[in-house]
Amino acid sequence: MILSAEIVLPISKPLIFDGAVLIENGKIIELGPLDNIKSKYRGHECITFENAVLLPGLINLHTHLELTAINKIILKDKADFIGWILALVELKKGVSKSEINNGIKNGIKEITATGTTTIADITTRNTFSPVSACGESFNAIKNAGLRGTVFLEVINFDHSSADDYWNDTTKIIEMLRKNENDLLSVGIAPHSIYSVSSKLLKIARDYTIKEKMKMSMHVAESMEEKEFVSKNKGSIRDIYHKKFKWDGKRDFKRYLSSIKYIDKNGLLNKDMLTVHCVNLNEEDIRLLKERNTSVVHCPRSNTFIGVGVAPFDRLISNGINVGIGTDSYASNYSLSMWDEMRFAYLLHRKTNNSDIKAEDIIKCGTINGAKALGINNKIGTLDVGKDADLIAVRLHKKDIDIYRDLLLNTKSDDILMTMVAGKIIYSSGIEGLKSVN
Ligand SMILES: [Zn+2]
Repeated sequence: MILSAEIVLPISKPLIFDGAVLIENGKIIELGPLDNIKSKYRGHECITFENAVLLPGLINLHTHLELTAINKIILKDKADFIGWILALVELKKGVSKSEINNGIKNGIKEITATGTTTIADITTRNTFSPVSACGESFNAIKNAGLRGTVFLEVINFDHSSADDYWNDTTKIIEMLRKNENDLLSVGIAPHSIYSVSSKLLKIARDYTIKEKMKMSMHVAESMEEKEFVSKNKGSIRDIYHKKFKWDGKRDFKRYLSSIKYIDKNGLLNKDMLTVHCVNLNEEDIRLLKERNTSVVHCPRSNTFIGVGVAPFDRLISNGINVGIGTDSYASNYSLSMWDEMRFAYLLHRKTNNSDIKAEDIIKCGTINGAKALGINNKIGTLDVGKDADLIAVRLHKKDIDIYRDLLLNTKSDDILMTMVAGKIIYSSGIEGLKSVN
């Protein structure tokens, strides 16, 4: 099948006016000007998206679909990171299993309808909540035909119970991994430095290296975390740990920064997604670059919780791979990557001495996300041989820069089609559309 549009935006090369993409068996066979493709592949069915752009599907690098059920941002007059986490723990207690599952479904609906084709979702096992979700989002994502990695959250600060905790965790990981397929894989997400003991962190690290899995971790998110890591004091120790009866005794020393700590523990590598990275010093940035570690930028979540603004421009100018994530409904008002990318663009457009271009932001939401997940050979750009993960988006033509036009003007109802590996997982009433795998 040939899909054509006024503009094809491959990301890896210049845009093609009156372009077309030939898709067979879920893969991109060829792309170029429509006239060329049509004359070369006579007889192939051709669907044209009027006034639209075809571009790679978006990649949301950080979600907690299970929290969609909460459906309200925990926002206080005074920004308070620990207060936010504790309020979230309380809210989770009031959510039933069916509400969690409905929330996951609603979240996936929103994600596919806004042009996201790949997600990196965090799923939990029964920790603080009486309701055990146990990887609930995995099957829902699989059934929706989305691509992604589902990271099982690891959270336990009591180092004396690290082995027992891990034994239970591996059972869930193995159960989930039996259902992995070409599109969906399982990863491991130690929650954070302040909620996972050093012993457990190393056990999880060894397992992921042995099993060749990806990791995701909230890192350098708040000043409270920084105070805890570097001084072993502050509200994380005094309030947060008390709440969970963790006695404040920890099995690791003080480190100058969170990045330094996870590096010393062998977790800073190409398979780690460091989420947030708001508080970074120059040495941290150097280490991220040296270890080839990706950063997941969640600007709206950081702003809502009030932890600050990540040094996006310095990460980009230092050549670090930065992807974008929406985080959850507990700290955001939508799961739309368009909303997130637009916010990032406006926030960072002119920072210090660097100019962030709309094209840079769209790369963060596509190819950079694919690199972070280690699947840039399969997706992230429209190139021959890659899987057909692409979206059709209505053109507004309010701006001569097509990237900026898309970023500033795309609303949810402008997504005409969302396709993963040739399969249409969302469309808004385009006649003749059918999957091509
Ligand atoms: Zn998170």
